[in-house]
Amino acid sequence: MTDTTIAPGEPTAPGERTAYADFIAGLPKAELHVHHVGSARPETVAALAARHPDAGVPQDLAALKDFFTFTDFAHFIDVYLATVALLRTPEDIHLLTREVIEGLAAQRVCYAELTMTPFTSVRMGIPIEAYTEAIEDARITAERDTGTVVRWIYDIPGEAGLESADATISYAVDHGPASLVGFGLGGPEIGVPRPQFKAHFDRARAAGLHSVPHSGESTGPETIWDAIRELGAERIGHGIAATQDPRLVEYLAEHRIPLEISPTSNLATRVVERIEDHPIRALRDAGVVVTVNSDDPPMFGTTLNREYAIAANLLDLDEGGLRELATTALNASFAPDDVKARIRREIGDHA
Ligand SMILES: [Zn+2]
Repeated sequence: MTDTTIAPGEPTAPGERTAYADFIAGLPKAELHVHHVGSARPETVAALAARHPDAGVPQDLAALKDFFTFTDFAHFIDVYLATVALLRTPEDIHLLTREVIEGLAAQRVCYAELTMTPFTSVRMGIPIEAYTEAIEDARITAERDTGTVVRWIYDIPGEAGLESADATISYAVDHGPASLVGFGLGGPEIGVPRPQFKAHFDRARAAGLHSVPHSGESTGPETIWDAIRELGAERIGHGIAATQDPRLVEYLAEHRIPLEISPTSNLATRVVERIEDHPIRALRDAGVVVTVNSDDPPMFGTTLNREYAIAANLLDLDEGGLRELATTALNASFAPDDVKARIRREIGDHA
């Protein structure tokens, strides 16, 4: 781990040498846990700030890059909320969505499940019909231009309570496009018990949506049990607290319930203190299906490629291991079978 070690929290400059950096950059990948607003790049925010100068967000890219430099979790929330405040029209949603997909494509993400929080946008005054149309148009345009296939997950912002859950399930079931594949639950875990959303997840699952709640990020294994038993979780967002409960680890391994792991996010939110303490390896070694994802990449100063480089170090992966890691994410995805088969071939061909 000498010249291959990456300092956690330090953004990797383009072209910086890390173990297998070039291999990872060209490796076809699937991203399963990445948030729409949390993926806004400074360049996109600059364009939005120019559209809405009264928001008081700097329009100058250098100043915005400073603003986007991660300092602590409270600062991340500031950046996130400033971005939310700039998303006022369907055109803003369209711009952000297109640029997020282009950013994924530039990292050779061939398939992504993008987590959307429509409740926030409807509260900003964008009707759900216009929101749906904007994201769908951006998705179709971006797929035509880049080849990257995107599907949606709508999530309940847990901090906004049951009112937001009632609204979000209606956006999903009554207005969701055919490209909506999953139903999630984000926001804080502390003070937001999972079981209160059981009826919402029941309805989502009855409508054919996959259950993918966050759990076991900042609270213990009991939250993951709740997500499985009460919400029918098919994948767990984060889930790293599972390591505290050997019975749960066994259950996850036996039932092949994948975890969506984001190492840099876990450091940023301080649920893991040091990267070398990250439980991804222990989980993998215990037979749990682990996937690597980026969560809110520009706001945490990372990229999916950088998360793969970190995982390569933590899991001691060579090129074959990295191909396997990418294939695992693809297999854990809800991509159409023909898309899975094509990308699986492309992963196998990558050398
Ligand atoms: Zn997340």
